[in-house]
Amino acid sequence: MAWGLEAFRDTARQLLREGVLPGDILWRGARMEQESMLGELLGAPTACQPVEHVRASRAYMDAIRKAAYHSDPQRYALMYRVLWRINHGCPELMKHIGDADVDALIALEKEVRRDAHKMKAFVRFKRVEDAAAPETFVAWHRPDHPIVEVVAPFFQDRFRAMNFTIFTPTESVRWDGHALHFGPGIPREQAPAADELDEMWRTYYASIFNPARIKIRAMQSEMPQKHWQTLPEAQIIRQLLRQAPERVRAMLGNQPETAAAFVPEQASLTQLARALPACLACQRCTQANGAVPGEGPPRARIMLVGEQPGDQEDLVGRPFVGPAGEVLNQALTMAGIERSQCYLTNAFKAFKHAHTPERRLHQTPSPAELAVCKPWLLAEIKAVSPHVLVALGGSAALATMGRRVAVLRERGEHPTSLAPHLIVSAHPASILRAPSESMRQHHMALLIRDLRAAAALAAQHP
Ligand code: URA
Repeated sequence: MAWGLEAFRDTARQLLREGVLPGDILWRGARMEQESMLGELLGAPTACQPVEHVRASRAYMDAIRKAAYHSDPQRYALMYRVLWRINHGCPELMKHIGDADVDALIALEKEVRRDAHKMKAFVRFKRVEDAAAPETFVAWHRPDHPIVEVVAPFFQDRFRAMNFTIFTPTESVRWDGHALHFGPGIPREQAPAADELDEMWRTYYASIFNPARIKIRAMQSEMPQKHWQTLPEAQIIRQLLRQAPERVRAMLGNQPETAAAFVPEQASLTQLARALPACLACQRCTQANGAVPGEGPPRARIMLVGEQPGDQEDLVGRPFVGPAGEVLNQALTMAGIERSQCYLTNAFKAFKHAHTPERRLHQTPSPAELAVCKPWLLAEIKAVSPHVLVALGGSAALATMGRRVAVLRERGEHPTSLAPHLIVSAHPASILRAPSESMRQHHMALLIRDLRAAAALAAQHP
């Protein structure tokens, strides 16, 4: 159990019942507080309405479950302030994006989540000799925040059959096959050095390294250099980078054709829809139920561009009719836009997927495949001539902007020659994948905001 979080919850409930204002309490930020009171009153509290039944929305609980592990000493003060406001007239506070407290809390949640994700990916165990337990594994990792407790259940599940200890500079966790034991950390110098497992990691990394998709910046942020010391595979990165150009040249033999030869010139939407089934440019349609054309009024003011049809869309032959379509419908309604007034299409017209015994698994179309299919999208844009193009997600943004786009950072309006306005937004499926209710609400609110902006721009054009 999270003693920091537990103690916060007890303390916060008590303070709310006593009517203590957020400004009247000084929160102690240290981890591993054993006492139940983490807060200290600053003189006599200013009275405010005591709260008999403390309420906390699911989004709030989701957010603090991670935010409580941030190293920011102000985190408990922020968590209490938000809880206080939820219980003093603002029960829906967590839905208010743009509110400084809400944004700050979600930012803390996000940073802890990201740190935990990195720890799960970058912990590398070494086998050590231990007379008491013949197979004992030890790892040392440096997270940005004291998150050992957040990630311990993941390692317990994954390595249930191993005796392991994970050290960080400030904390540790040991699994003895029965229970997790939390304890102090150790400095890097005291962690064990290399063993034969390192070679296994290097082989694995070399096998997944794609020389055609080298993104040094992304690699550095995905695998920050501070972790390189403890990652055996990091030692072969330079060698793999040196070999990359040669390997790419070898891969270039089988580039797909472009769809341009299949797209009729100056075509109406009806003509395009008739010609689409005959396209054989990338052959992906032949592996699914065929290409899915766009749909909507031929003079729609807003054109929404998704990535590719999903499983449902492939079966029905229409865009956005599956779970992501439902999210999109909700967002459109909230933004005051009628779906039937928009033209909906996809950057890639086929459902690219892999088969598993249970279902067909979505696979993202590659930049090369998007480029092959792009003549269809351009022809649709030309036929509809929308006032506002909305690119939903990275693939649509790449197809419309001609470059990779970090959607969450670059969302909003961008200059384009394809239409009077282009708005980049997140894909509705990313909302379905949001890891918590607070993030889901947050991303939904941002999508609605982007769609409202699209509607406002469309209304400017008669
Ligand atoms: N996702 C998309 O990008 N498009 C669809 O049509 C459905 C899901």
